[in-house]
Amino acid sequence: MSDSTRKTFLITGVSSGFGRAFARAALDAGHLVFGTVRNEQAAAEFRSLDTARARAVQLDVTDFSAIRPCIDKLVQDNKPIDVLVNNAGYGHEGILEESPLEEIQRQFDVNVFGAVAMIKAVLPEMRQRRSGHIINVTSMGGFVTMPGVAYYCGSKFALEGISEALAKEVKDLGVKVTSMAPGSFRTDWAGRSMTRTDRTIADYDALFDPIRRAREEKSGNQLGDPAKAAQALLRIVEAPNPPVHLLLGSDAVQLVKNKLAALQEELQQWEALSLSTDFSA
Ligand code: NAP
Repeated sequence: MSDSTRKTFLITGVSSGFGRAFARAALDAGHLVFGTVRNEQAAAEFRSLDTARARAVQLDVTDFSAIRPCIDKLVQDNKPIDVLVNNAGYGHEGILEESPLEEIQRQFDVNVFGAVAMIKAVLPEMRQRRSGHIINVTSMGGFVTMPGVAYYCGSKFALEGISEALAKEVKDLGVKVTSMAPGSFRTDWAGRSMTRTDRTIADYDALFDPIRRAREEKSGNQLGDPAKAAQALLRIVEAPNPPVHLLLGSDAVQLVKNKLAALQEELQQWEALSLSTDFSA
């Protein structure tokens, strides 16, 4: 790959799952990849993927004041960042009434505020160069919901909204923004990474226990292949007009289609009431 086609990627959370798969695919395609990790062992593992083009840096995305210096250090002797992939994130699972407020604060700190802090650190330079692509990994849970993931879905709906609005702000400034919303993929998301709030209220047993059990049983056997998601990522990075939203996985496509149809139906059913609230001319 020539210097002019080689891009510099910054991917958060490259220790496993999507982040690792995205980094691997970008390295295989000849790009330079900066990856964030949270401990020295993960850093060493990441560097070993490609001693010349895989650079690891330790960063917890909720350590907002550490982000700017970390990026400055990374780009010091290198080309500026062409592609930011806000991938770092985790799922909180728990019935809303049972789950402490601290859990939603932590969920938003990582999945929303961490991503926004990363964007604010790379955007000025992208805007000045009139070039760059920001990719936010959201979720089908940013479009559809189910009981027991209110905090997680809230965070992913928030990141979807932020992404979409940002795309409109920077579209004439040469910066592209895409939110990538995966369905269920085979990563550590529902395994070691998930935070599960303990059950305390029996009224929710019938609704939620089967959902929790099913998610635990399915972990490791999800339909989605992270390596194929990584090929999709490379494709949108090369696209002259990438989408603002991209779903990944057959489950995501079907569930979001169902949601849109149900929304349309409800909108029509209550349209007269919705229209009744304007001032009369
Ligand atoms: P994963 O294998 O658990 O990877 C999550 C990555 O995020 C890890 O590298 C983890 O680092 C990192 N991370 C977590 N909290 C962080 C923090 N505060 N600061 C920095 N890094 C942090 O799960 P994954 O599925 O690949 O998750 C990646 C993204 O995909 C997440 O945003 C997730 O919500 C989203 N997603 C996943 C699915 C799915 O089915 N897998 C579906 C839709 C969306 P450590 O190793 O240090 O914990």
